[in-house]
Amino acid sequence: MKTIIVGGGLGGLSAAIYLAKEGVDVHLYEKNEHFGGKMMPINQDGYHFDFGPNTITMPHVFKDVLSQAGLNPNEELPFLSIENHTRNQFTDGTTIDFSSNPSFMKEQLREIDPKAASHYDEFLQEVEKLYHLSNRYFLNRTFSSWKDYLSPPLARAMTKVRPLQSMDRFFKHYFNHPQMVQALNRYATYIGSSPYASPATFAMIAHLELSDGVYYVRGGNTKIADSFVKAAKKLGVHLHSSTEVEKLIVKRDRISGVKLSTGEKVEADRVIVNGDLLEALPALLTEEERPSFKDKKIRSVDPSTSAFVITAGLDTRLDSLNHHHVLFSSNYQEEFQTLRQGEYSFDPTIYISTSSKTDPDVSPKGDNCFILVNAPADQEHNAPSASAYRDLIYEKLYEAGLPLAAHVKNEQTITPGAIQHRFRAFHGAIYGPSSNSRVQAFRRPFNQSSDYKNLYFCGGSTHPGGGSPMVVLSGQNVADKILGKIRFVE
Ligand SMILES: Cc1cc2nc3c(=O)[nH]c(=O)nc-3n(C[C@H](O)[C@H](O)[C@H](O)COP(=O)(O)OP(=O)(O)OC[C@H]3O[C@@H](n4cnc5c(N)ncnc54)[C@H](O)[C@@H]3O)c2cc1C
Repeated sequence: MKTIIVGGGLGGLSAAIYLAKEGVDVHLYEKNEHFGGKMMPINQDGYHFDFGPNTITMPHVFKDVLSQAGLNPNEELPFLSIENHTRNQFTDGTTIDFSSNPSFMKEQLREIDPKAASHYDEFLQEVEKLYHLSNRYFLNRTFSSWKDYLSPPLARAMTKVRPLQSMDRFFKHYFNHPQMVQALNRYATYIGSSPYASPATFAMIAHLELSDGVYYVRGGNTKIADSFVKAAKKLGVHLHSSTEVEKLIVKRDRISGVKLSTGEKVEADRVIVNGDLLEALPALLTEEERPSFKDKKIRSVDPSTSAFVITAGLDTRLDSLNHHHVLFSSNYQEEFQTLRQGEYSFDPTIYISTSSKTDPDVSPKGDNCFILVNAPADQEHNAPSASAYRDLIYEKLYEAGLPLAAHVKNEQTITPGAIQHRFRAFHGAIYGPSSNSRVQAFRRPFNQSSDYKNLYFCGGSTHPGGGSPMVVLSGQNVADKILGKIRFVE
């Protein structure tokens, strides 16, 4: 059975590997030169940057993919656990360091929020429960139709994952210190959403970061994509880079193959679309060919946030920077309101990942700062000029005691428009649809088309969601669905 995969992001590669391992003939087409999609290496005059995933959690998900191909995951992906991983810095000079060591967390809390310190273990137990419920009922299965939501175990699970409470309210239940709440609320941005709107279910991210741990792959996180390519090749996947799929060919109620941008037509028994569904499907099928995915439905989707990124290579190593470093805005709620109105914040929260703090070899000449600010999707017309916004970011960093600009040897800026163009991301959104409403959070686009039974979807815009481990799981889930393996635990 020949399977074509459109897009070579982590989701597409993961599906390819799981299928090829079972003997399926897989042909994967990626329009860019590199495989890995948004997980993309940027090499700037001796400075390596991981574009996309900088914060890695759930390493077992990535390792499992490599084991499928008989590779040794520990050799291919030397994951390093970063215990005190994230410095949260506030405009008044306060810092709170996030760590997967609970004793260290409690020590800090005793100083600023003694009641929360005594309830910290309880908090960790609750977010662990949210994670295990999600893992059991949502993460390891596909959703093909509305009927899939009607199973009694799933309905019971739904009531336990706090779908009606916001993340912000959930965190306030356990913590009184406003800056501690603000730092935890940032987890909503991992799904491109607002903590004041998205359901508390996603507080499970706190379990991943504060118990399970934050990881980095020695040599750069982009090694994950490289290792997936190695695994796919080993299993005989036919990988085609720089090859765009222009159309899906429809024959009655089936997809019979694809037409490439070269004009060539390739037949297939089934097709998996890994590219951002909201952008890919309208490009690959005419509106008449997708009765259950009309333009009106796509227009009604609230996209997740996008990003304004600077990759800055410094001529020095700044001791004041942590591997993961967040400089918060003075009014977080206002920042999210601004973003939801489709505008850039002029008092933005700034995230900096400097992997040279853990792995100096990736950037021997000085620090490699990957600077990311949340930006609205699809608002290029409202956008300030890239150079003016970059200057504003450097100014804020300078005022906070982080004088990066004076040390920049080389840099690039990447705007939401560039993210849209390069990865065909819906309005430049990083994680497909936002999770700002309950409906969007729990009913992401399905993994199988309602119009064509041999058309499947995987990747960050589908179930279970954005974020690199989720995307890898979506590829695996779709492969399992195709192979007839049942992964839903009653
Ligand atoms: C700035 C930024 C920061 C991020 N930070 C993190 C982080 O810290 N941690 C984390 O876990 N995740 C992070 N993410 C999210 C993570 O990168 C994504 O969730 C994940 O990489 C998406 O994988 P995917 O398989 O869905 O598809 P993508 O990576 O979007 O890949 C899809 C591929 O399909 C290709 N394609 C589309 N249409 C066609 C076509 N017609 N023909 C051929 N090819 C096509 C595209 O070129 C693209 O390469 C970040 C993302 C960004 C952009």
